[in-house]
Amino acid sequence: MTEFDTKPLAEAFYGSQNCINCGETLSGRRDKKFCDDHCRSLYHNQTYAPDYNLIRKTHTILRKNRRILLQAGIAFGERNEVPSQWLTEQGFSFQHCTQWTDRKKTEQQIICYDIAYQWLDREHVRIFYISADSLAA
Ligand SMILES: [Zn+2]
Repeated sequence: MTEFDTKPLAEAFYGSQNCINCGETLSGRRDKKFCDDHCRSLYHNQTYAPDYNLIRKTHTILRKNRRILLQAGIAFGERNEVPSQWLTEQGFSFQHCTQWTDRKKTEQQIICYDIAYQWLDREHVRIFYISADSLAA
C-alpha cells in the first residue's frame, strides 16, 4: 500500500511556513500551524473569546430565567397567575427565551428550555411545564 502524500496539500492549504500567531518560522512537520501549544492557545483565545463570551453570557441569562420560572411554578403553582413584576424582581429577562409557539399573540407561549409562560394580561403570566419529548428540535 502506498502512503498518500499530504505535503502538497498541506503547502496549498497552509501556505507559508510561519506560525499563525507570532509569525516565527516553523520547523518540523510541514502542516504545523503554530510554534507550540502556547501560541496555539493564544491564537484560539483571541479568535474565539468574543463568541465564547456572548454565548456564555446568554446561557447564564437563560439558566437564570429557567430557575426563576421554576421558582415561580413552586411559589404560585403551575397554570396559576404569576405577576410579571415578581419575575422582574427575581431578575427575569423577558428579552431571552429559547423558543416560542407560533400562535396568535394572546395564546403564544414563550419557552425557556422546558418551561413556558403565556401572557394573561399586561401584568400577569401563566407558567407551564413542558415535557422534553415534545420539544424535540
Ligand atoms: Zn508562534
